[in-house]
Amino acid sequence: MVAIDGPAGTGKSTVARGLAKALGSRYLDTGAMYRAVTLAVLRSGVALDDIDGIARIAEGVEVSVDSVPEGDRTYLDGEDVSRDIRGDKVTRAVSAVSAIPSVRTRLVAVQQQLAAEAGGVVVEGRDVGTVVLPDADVKIYLTASAETRARRRNDQNIATGLRDDYAGVLADVLRRDEMDSTRAVSPLRPADDAVIVDTGHMTQAQVVEHLRDLVEQHCGAIR
Ligand code: C5P
Repeated sequence: MVAIDGPAGTGKSTVARGLAKALGSRYLDTGAMYRAVTLAVLRSGVALDDIDGIARIAEGVEVSVDSVPEGDRTYLDGEDVSRDIRGDKVTRAVSAVSAIPSVRTRLVAVQQQLAAEAGGVVVEGRDVGTVVLPDADVKIYLTASAETRARRRNDQNIATGLRDDYAGVLADVLRRDEMDSTRAVSPLRPADDAVIVDTGHMTQAQVVEHLRDLVEQHCGAIR
């Protein structure tokens, strides 16, 4: 089991997916699950400061994930919401929803069950090494400066047809860093036994190669 944590824009998802492919193992994006609950909250019209209302929604919805040849899919009560969960509104609201303890308890239990069923798995998020899989074989914490992360996110947005807005993306990265790392429950931080990898001057292919080497050092040669 490999845990990959770190703030927004470190290339976590691409790198975690690439590593899972290199290892021939499953991949689990825990952020997508928090985004799906956030989408359910936004659709319900419950206010973001209504903690009890949000807790009830999180309790009542079913979030599931699947890998298909075209990529990873996230479902909310059976509906494929993989695209909707990447929208601006969800991105702006997700840190508030994921700071609610009962939301985390519910999703962490699902994540632990999925990881146990998968056997070999690369799990990415914010609290995987500290809370979801404290006994992971390898724990990695990816970092890069906020400016580098915002530049990468903005380039990605432009490439996928979204608007060029470096200042807006940087503001969002800084806001989410602050909210995710200062929340009371499971704040974003490296596990004591995590290997910290600064991706600032590395390409994603180099990061995958480096992580594959780390897994080999910890677990032995990969066939
Ligand atoms: O990884 P991604 O940017 O999609 O995650 C969206 C948000 O979900 C994060 O900013 C964080 O607030 C929350 N999250 C979390 N714990 C995780 C994964 C994501 O709180 N394990």
